[in-house]
Amino acid sequence: MSYFFEVLSSRIGLSRIGRIIFSKKRKLYVSTPNIIIPITNSLMRQLNFISEFEDHEIFTVSKDIFLKIGFIKEKFKDNGFLFMTNGTLNRFEEILKTNVAVFSEDNIISIIPFNIPTTSISKEFATAEIKNHLLNTKKILKNYSNLNFGVSIKVFNYTELFSLYIPLIEEYKNIKILNLVDIFDNLSNFRNVLRVVAQIKKDLDNNLIIMASGRITSKKFPMLIYLGVDIINSSYLLHLSAENFYDSIEYLIPIYKMRYLPCSCIGCKGNLKNIITNLLIHNLITATNYMNKIKQYLTYEDYRVFVEKSSYDDNNLISILKILDKDYFNLIRYNTPISQKNKKIQALGPSSYFRPDFREFRKRVIENFKPEPWTTLIILLPCSAKKPYSDSKSHKLFHKVLRQFPEFPKFQELIITSPLGVIPRQLENIYPVNSYDISVTGDWDAEEIDIAAKMLVRILKKYDRKVPVLCYLNEEYIDIVKSAANELENNIIYAEIHGKTTSDDSLNTLKRLILEFKDHYPITQDREGSNYLTRSWHRKFIKILDYQFGIGSGQKIITNGMKPIKMRKLANINLIDLKTKQKLGEFKPSTGQIFLTLTSLNRLYPLPSISDTSYIVFNGESIQGNTLFRAGVLDYSKDLIPGNQVVIYNETKDSIIGTGTLLVGTNFLQHTQTGRIAKIIEKKKGN
Ligand SMILES: [Zn+2]
Repeated sequence: MSYFFEVLSSRIGLSRIGRIIFSKKRKLYVSTPNIIIPITNSLMRQLNFISEFEDHEIFTVSKDIFLKIGFIKEKFKDNGFLFMTNGTLNRFEEILKTNVAVFSEDNIISIIPFNIPTTSISKEFATAEIKNHLLNTKKILKNYSNLNFGVSIKVFNYTELFSLYIPLIEEYKNIKILNLVDIFDNLSNFRNVLRVVAQIKKDLDNNLIIMASGRITSKKFPMLIYLGVDIINSSYLLHLSAENFYDSIEYLIPIYKMRYLPCSCIGCKGNLKNIITNLLIHNLITATNYMNKIKQYLTYEDYRVFVEKSSYDDNNLISILKILDKDYFNLIRYNTPISQKNKKIQALGPSSYFRPDFREFRKRVIENFKPEPWTTLIILLPCSAKKPYSDSKSHKLFHKVLRQFPEFPKFQELIITSPLGVIPRQLENIYPVNSYDISVTGDWDAEEIDIAAKMLVRILKKYDRKVPVLCYLNEEYIDIVKSAANELENNIIYAEIHGKTTSDDSLNTLKRLILEFKDHYPITQDREGSNYLTRSWHRKFIKILDYQFGIGSGQKIITNGMKPIKMRKLANINLIDLKTKQKLGEFKPSTGQIFLTLTSLNRLYPLPSISDTSYIVFNGESIQGNTLFRAGVLDYSKDLIPGNQVVIYNETKDSIIGTGTLLVGTNFLQHTQTGRIAKIIEKKKGN
């Protein structure tokens, strides 16, 4: 019974999709994230409740009467249960003793309670309480070492006391659930709350199920899931409903104020007067529906934008997001997938500027983009709403001008945009450039200007300062270039824009200036590689490969030239070696990524030297099946990011035996012994 939970994939922030394995044999799995619905005597007497929730995946029960075999084993045999008593630890032990058989069965796990009547106590008293509680908990964990448990963690508003629990959690492997009883009660304490969240990720087994209990309302759900919570205890709704509060997600509204019911659930149907008796049903349904929305968005939409949107009207939530983006990037980047498939990424404003996938993108462009040696002119262009930019009306017009010059491949186009910054033309098809959207009013705020200007400086500094920079931008972009110009020595030529950048007059100016400046930077000889690498897709693939696998990768892989072949079915593009006709890789426009074949990976990392990034050493000579599990991993690089391609070496590191797409990142590998690590793309044949 050691294998109880598995992460199926990492999502943005610390969020993750997983499943609790109650019984592998019976295929009794509970999907996460999820909400836990309480079952009480009075709810069981309501037909509405039973008809509404009998198929729900996971419940809590607090009375031992529900442990009777008939209930859990027959009526609800396909649901998961958590047993949580409101009583003392002594009472819990008694129940445990008389029901050992039940708890050894497959669809229930008990949570060791931590109930003391008061919540406001001094730190000294809290410390003493926790230490005492830990001693008793330890006894139970030891006495019932073959049972799985959840442990209740209470900090009494002193988040630093969380550390006291760590040795216990590390020692007892039969702890499967961390029930955070009061950590999320007071979110104005956001810095400390985040410290606890980071501690859980950095110090503890990442296969522990994180459960949020306490004063949790629907409003907090999106953020809790973003913070890596797997299951949310909805018991607080019992209390709120008894106090006559109606949960509309945005607000908790006292029932006497309700005039218009914004819901047509079974509890809200009919007369307004009935709502008092049906309030709990409504609140539970609302919370469950909201959780379903979260699950839907986690997989099929850009979840991050939903977290931002739902945090806007709560200052604590928006502060959490800000601090996370700013101070926890180094933790979060190894949990956040490098790309999202077929999703529109809406940038809402300042809350979106430093989302982890945007930060990762900027970081990689700055680090991995290497100028083409034959560049003689840099042209700065405005962004377009349509993606990729090349498909937009304005960029088609720009290209019409640029392509009149046979020297076109010697021009480096840089597109200036908010909030991503500066995009070399070659990278316009990658995530998130291929899919972001922002409202454009022409007013850039100071932060946007700063992001773009800093990036522009970093990229232009890679070039010889004598390469002229032609700035073909509307007025609102000029502040960015002016701000960057202070730190640059290049000759920056500002094109005068007549009306719009797409007007004939402006385009004529562009043409005239290109003509004037294209030969200012003398190219002494035909630079190496410039003959076949100058076609647009070639230029793109070289830079995308550098972006994904590090500077110089493109040139190591595409040694004989390359023929891009569009595949009819998926709009994917196969990269075929011109000389050997071998498939080098496949570009997927949906994710903006190139997946390399083993042929390419062997070119990129010619043995005996091995990759120093994104690799895994496998415990054996050949990989079985289509999934790589943690148990098969002997060693790994410290830069693994979900969604990235990973190179898999054999035990002796003298052969690349496969490659895959990572499902989780370095942090997960560091802190787990079981679970799924990567989906295999290709395996070495013949062994
Ligand atoms: Zn309702």
